[in-house]
Amino acid sequence: MAKIAQVIVDVPTMQTNRPYSYLVPSELADAVHPGMRVSVPFGKGGREVGGMVIGVDEQAQTLPTFSGKLKPLTALLDLASVLNPELLELSDWLATHTFAFRISTIQTMLPAALKTKSHKLLVADQSIADAHLAGLFTNGQLDFTAAKLAPNEVDQLAKLQQSGIVHADYAVENRAKVKTVTWVQSQLTTDQIVDVRPTIRANATKQQQLLDVLTTCQTPQPLAKLTENSALARADFSAAAKRGWVTLTERESYRDPYAQKDIAATRAMTLHADQAAAVAAITGAIESATPQPFLLEGVTGSGKTEVYLQSIAAALAQGKTALMLVPEIALTPQMVNRVRGRFGKQVAVLHSGLSAGEKYDEWRRIERHEAAVVVGARSAAFAPLDNIGLIVMDEEHETSYKQDDNPRYHARDVLLWRAKYHHAPVVLGSATPSLESRARAERGVYQSLLLPERINQQPLPPVTVIDMREQLKAHTESNFSTALLDALKLRLERGEQSVLMLNRRGFSSFVMCRDCGFVLKCPNCDVSLVLHMDTHTMKCHYCGHEETIPKICPNCHSRRISYYGSGTEKVAAELTTLLPDVRIIRMDADTTRRKGAYEKLLTDFGEHKADILLGTQMIAKGLDYPDVTLVGVLNADTALGLPDFRASERTFQLLTQVSGRAGRADKPGEVFIQTFNPDHYAIQLAQKQDYERFFRVEMKMRHLGNYPPYYYTALITASAQDENVAARRMFELAEQLKAQLSDTTVILGPTPRSIARINNRYYYQIVLKYKQEPHLQTVLAKVLDDAQKEQRQGLQVAIDMEPQSFI
Ligand code: ADP
Ligand code: ZN
Ligand code: ZN
Repeated sequence: MAKIAQVIVDVPTMQTNRPYSYLVPSELADAVHPGMRVSVPFGKGGREVGGMVIGVDEQAQTLPTFSGKLKPLTALLDLASVLNPELLELSDWLATHTFAFRISTIQTMLPAALKTKSHKLLVADQSIADAHLAGLFTNGQLDFTAAKLAPNEVDQLAKLQQSGIVHADYAVENRAKVKTVTWVQSQLTTDQIVDVRPTIRANATKQQQLLDVLTTCQTPQPLAKLTENSALARADFSAAAKRGWVTLTERESYRDPYAQKDIAATRAMTLHADQAAAVAAITGAIESATPQPFLLEGVTGSGKTEVYLQSIAAALAQGKTALMLVPEIALTPQMVNRVRGRFGKQVAVLHSGLSAGEKYDEWRRIERHEAAVVVGARSAAFAPLDNIGLIVMDEEHETSYKQDDNPRYHARDVLLWRAKYHHAPVVLGSATPSLESRARAERGVYQSLLLPERINQQPLPPVTVIDMREQLKAHTESNFSTALLDALKLRLERGEQSVLMLNRRGFSSFVMCRDCGFVLKCPNCDVSLVLHMDTHTMKCHYCGHEETIPKICPNCHSRRISYYGSGTEKVAAELTTLLPDVRIIRMDADTTRRKGAYEKLLTDFGEHKADILLGTQMIAKGLDYPDVTLVGVLNADTALGLPDFRASERTFQLLTQVSGRAGRADKPGEVFIQTFNPDHYAIQLAQKQDYERFFRVEMKMRHLGNYPPYYYTALITASAQDENVAARRMFELAEQLKAQLSDTTVILGPTPRSIARINNRYYYQIVLKYKQEPHLQTVLAKVLDDAQKEQRQGLQVAIDMEPQSFI
């Protein structure tokens, strides 16, 4: 009976969530399983495209003619599934839930090495009896992707893999990235060695020694280990290979980005009462396999991380695995070392700083059950862990958990889904929970866990709000108030350290003509070009356009053109004139671009190589330095002016977060916030670090404005090169939606987006606010489907459920 594979094909211009059916050639009947990548003919021309098998059916006997119309799939790219049944199911749910196409959710789950044209290698672990099959291997390896194998060969290889004679490995296309080590496999049995001995000359001592080694090492061994433990060199093994005594194979080895350093092991601490209560509640849910979400609320330094670690230990003790998400920006070496210090080599780390090869290595360690604890940023939500016992999301309010590109998913939703699947509890932790999560805790959907006090009983540092309007009246235009400057001087005298934060937004660097006020704009977008001192060019942050820095004003030909370096660069320059001997470490997108730079700057600061750490938002999280006693925020309110209902929430969160950086150890800390809106409730309440009050006030504002968490939101965006095309389609769509959705749903727009033109495309948006909308799924799915057809007219439509930004 023939088998039929259901395949999601990868054709960018013809995306659909409908799988296509392909006949499975009979030779592959046993080898094809859901979760494997395949190559299939597609369309009229029969072009070969990639695809993912999501199901395999026995062909119904009642439809004998059906198979005649089906094309057979061309090739199987995997011998074992790369997506397990859980992740396949999740990809389906995610596509529906985020209005994305299934192929994009599938690709999001796979490491880049499996997305790009990776080569699959088969590595022989034992000798292969079948001479023909053995002949396919050179040096114990077969490039499965490059070799054009017949289906029956593939089938036989799959059987070899099942019986453990060969195993599969993938090589990222750039072979230079694959780290390999040489392995030695004896080709002589101990009996054969006894026979060989008399045939070699007595004075060939190296050969005798080599046979000694082979006598004790009959299983494959790394060459380095054998040369290290004997007087033999690589050349001796190469010579032995020529005689046929051994085979040498190159095996891919794991790249471990953290391997260089030995991390000191840490032990579980004796918990304080509140921590103990939290761990007990979480452990209870792990043991009873209850998918209960917890909201762990506690100020910075209240011991949340210790709660995560001991709860993870409880999951491991149950023989289960654990997944912990941290925001990219907080995935500092300090953070990673705390987890590795507790769980050692069982920990896999996934974040965007890793090379494709490193990521892939970590992914495989997880898949092969060599890592039971995964720590990572957003995309680690898809880590191929089995048997999950606990899921943790630290800093659950962070916006970086939402992907702002297709598929537009929120990692929190993914985690809640996986928790249900595995019957595992989820711990969402934060000092300043998102309003959505906190509201769910109020309603009892999440169980609240509180850590009201800091571990060291240190009070939160006193926060001084400085009214910069006064400053502006009294002084020239300086970034520093007298109070902050005095505080900095005091730290320098005492040999203590300070952290200064510059809100990135609204402080970008540009070029302006002092005669006519001309500002250099991007030719493709409605934004100013940004000055980059490292490359000495003007760049557009939206479309990547790049040009040289003008020396003459393009508008009035004046030479009086001023360059303003990056925000931090400018502030650093001012600081050096104000405090001549000060040592500054600058941390922003420019200084941390190179791999490892971020880590190095932080280490330097930790080793007191600077007095001041000056940076953008990236310094606000996770840092824990005992000698930092002063934190200054230079411009607290740039985010407040943004047309976004979450502006206050973001400002409050950021200020609370950064204030927590001061006075972590026994020295008391102090915080200064410079602002032009000293009376704004977000700033006032951040000064008092009063989350409770903030939550109440902000909930009232949201209620008045019909915003989340009282309403759900969806953002529909259309873009086209012709502004009329985008606008017209959106007006039509608004009419359509009005007719199809219920009366209680609010439809805002269409309006041009705040940056109306990017990369020569014009953007229009519609915002939906709804409470209960039974037709939403079908209506929006239709919008997406229609959009697929309209793509030919150059129109692109995107749907973003619960957008984190409306700008
Ligand atoms: P948070 O994650 O809430 O910011 P941490 O878990 O980092 O808090 O704890 C703050 C500091 O207190 C850390 O240095 C940590 O090692 C320490 N700490 C946490 N729990 C305990 C405990 N039970 N006993 C002693 N020290 C603790
Ligand atoms: Zn541009
Ligand atoms: Zn000019």
